[in-house]
This record gives sequence, structure tokens and C-alpha cells, in this order.
Amino acid sequence: MTLQSLIQSGLPVIPGALLKDYTTFRLGGPCQALIVCSQSSEVIKVVPVLRNLNCPFLVMGFGSNILASDQGVDRILIRYSSDTPHITRDGNLLTVDASTQLDQLVLFSLQQGLLGLEKFSGIPGTVGGGIAGNAGAYGQQISDRLVSLQILANDTSEQKLTRNDISFSYRDSSLKSDGSIILSATFELSPGEDAARLLADRTALLMSREEKHGRWKDNPCAGSFFRNVLPSSSAGKRESAGWFLEQSGCKALNIGGAHCLHTHANIITRDIGASAKDVFELTQIMAGMVKEKFNIQLEREVRLLGKFENATDKNQEGFW
Ligand SMILES: Cc1cc2nc3c(=O)[nH]c(=O)nc-3n(C[C@H](O)[C@H](O)[C@H](O)COP(=O)(O)OP(=O)(O)OC[C@H]3O[C@@H](n4cnc5c(N)ncnc54)[C@H](O)[C@@H]3O)c2cc1C
Repeated sequence: MTLQSLIQSGLPVIPGALLKDYTTFRLGGPCQALIVCSQSSEVIKVVPVLRNLNCPFLVMGFGSNILASDQGVDRILIRYSSDTPHITRDGNLLTVDASTQLDQLVLFSLQQGLLGLEKFSGIPGTVGGGIAGNAGAYGQQISDRLVSLQILANDTSEQKLTRNDISFSYRDSSLKSDGSIILSATFELSPGEDAARLLADRTALLMSREEKHGRWKDNPCAGSFFRNVLPSSSAGKRESAGWFLEQSGCKALNIGGAHCLHTHANIITRDIGASAKDVFELTQIMAGMVKEKFNIQLEREVRLLGKFENATDKNQEGFW
């Protein structure tokens, strides 16, 4: 089959790669094969080969918003992520390859004295993953400063989209489920700030984030597990899912070593030995407790990769 053909085609294929090595939860069994792409040119080369071989595949970035099944997933995965930033500046416009880590883009913008992305300091993951999930913090969303995108559409054509071509909502976008691969993005930022002051503010923000969210390298997690709750009045902002979880007593739970961070009830972490199944079961119980106490059905923000028993909201083959 295809795996052999893929290897013969000269692509950087890792057969049977373990998802626990490619996700910040550090959980998950094998995928069929992992193909690492660190620039858009590589994605543009790889995807037509997979399509010609009739090989279904999924795209991931850095793996910081994913809970992967202990059984893994019977799919080829393209891991589109790079440690090396690929960013160019043209006036107030920054164009960035989607493989670039979002935090590196933020750092670059501040070093250039440009404002608009600073609130995303410390969010792990790629620019592509951030746009697909409309990542945000402190009331700002990545789509706010987005001007245009280069994508590889389902039919493998390269297309330029403007911000208005995409439907963005809270921690979601149409790109997450329509099969498009984000190749690069252009953001328009505001000029004229003193870089030294911006970088000092960033340091303060990073410290405050670390206090609240912990460090995923010490406490493996995927950030907030549930989306914040729709406002209870038309004037209000979304309400913190963490507050509802804490009030429902979820911080006291421990399922096989899966539990909440003591500083943040909506960040679920795990001890050594806990499985993805333990994490998933814990989250089901947590959602049930909030439902019982407040009659609110929490929605998951983290994507499930591979099969999980009792997961009902399948919306794309391979992701649940
Ligand atoms: C400690 C910690 C703190 C976090 N804090 C925040 C926070 O403050 N705010 C926030 O919003 N999130 C937060 N997160 C969640 C996560 O960092 C973001 O969702 C991030 O943007 C995901 O990027 P990724 O590259 O890791 O995507 P992945 O997790 O690899 O993928 C997520 C989704 O994006 C899709 N995707 C990835 N790349 C592409 C691409 N190039 N084209 C099309 N689709 C793509 C995947 O198919 C998948 O559906 C946090 C996570 C951690 C571990």
C-alpha cells in the first residue's frame, strides 16, 4: 500500500509515530505515519502526492489543542510546524508561514515595535493552528488583526482569501472543518511603540500566564479544555467555564491521575501513568457536574483525535 509508496516518494515519513511525542498532553498512541512539514512549499509538495495515492490524511500543527486517543488514529498525519520562524515585514503588514510558532510571531512583532498581537504572548502552537481555532486571550482573537490568508483548498488549488471570506467565531473558524490547509497569513498591526517597553510588558504577561496556566512541559495539558460559556445577558461577555467547574467541585476529582490544575479548574493535566481515556472520562464527569448544578452544557474546546468511547460530536473523520 501507500505507506511503502510514500516512503519511496522521498517524503519525510515516520511510520507508526506515537502521538504522545507530538502533542502537549503527551498522550496518544500511533498514527499510520507522520509527515513533518516545516514550510508551505513542503505542504504544497506533499498533499498532491497523498491525494494521488488516494491516502486520507489529517493536518495538525504543534498539537497543543488536541487530546489523542490511547489507540492512536488510523490515518496519516501532516504535522505542519516549525521551530524556525518564517516572517516578512512590509510596513505595518507581517506575513508569516503557518508553521511558525505564534509566540515567535508575537515576539517578532514587539521587537519591531508593532502592536496588536501582544496579548497572545505565551500561547503555544502554530500560527496555522491559532487561526484555524481562532485562538485568543484577554478579550482579543487572532482573527482581529488578520488581513488575508493563503490556503491549499481541498482540490489542492492554492487560493488567497481575505478575512471576510472566512467565518470566525469564538475559538472556531470555518477553516477547521472545511479541509483547507492554511499556508500563510498576513496581519496588519499598529506602529509606533517603543520596543523595549513592549517587551517589558510581554515579560509581565508571560509571568502572569505561567502563574495561572502552569507550564505544559511540567503539567502536560492542552490549555482550557472547555469553551467559556455564552453570556447570561445580551450585554455580558462569555463567562469563565473555570468558574462553573470550580463551583461544581471539579477540582477535587481525580480519575486515574487525571485532574485539574490547582490554579485553574478548566486546565486539565495528568500525572505519569494516566491515559487519554482517564482524561476524557474526567472531562465527561466534570461536564456532568456542571450540567447538574447549573443546567449548562459545557462545550469542549480541545479536539479529540482518534476514537473515544462515548464521544458523540463527531464532525470530521479522524477528529471527534
Ligand atoms: C499551556 C497552554 C495554554 C494555552 N492557552 C491558550 C490561550 O490562552 N488561548 C487559546 O486560544 N488557546 C490556548 N491554548 C490552546 C492552543 O495553544 C491553541 O489552540 C493553538 O492555537 C493550537 O495550535 P496548534 O498548532 O498546536 O494546533 P493543533 O493543536 O495541532 O491543531 C488544532 C486544530 O487546528 C487545525 N490546524 C492546525 N494547523 C493547521 C493549518 N495549517 N491549517 C488548517 N488547520 C490547521 C488542526 O487540524 C486542528 O483541528 C493553550 C494550550 C496550552 C497547552
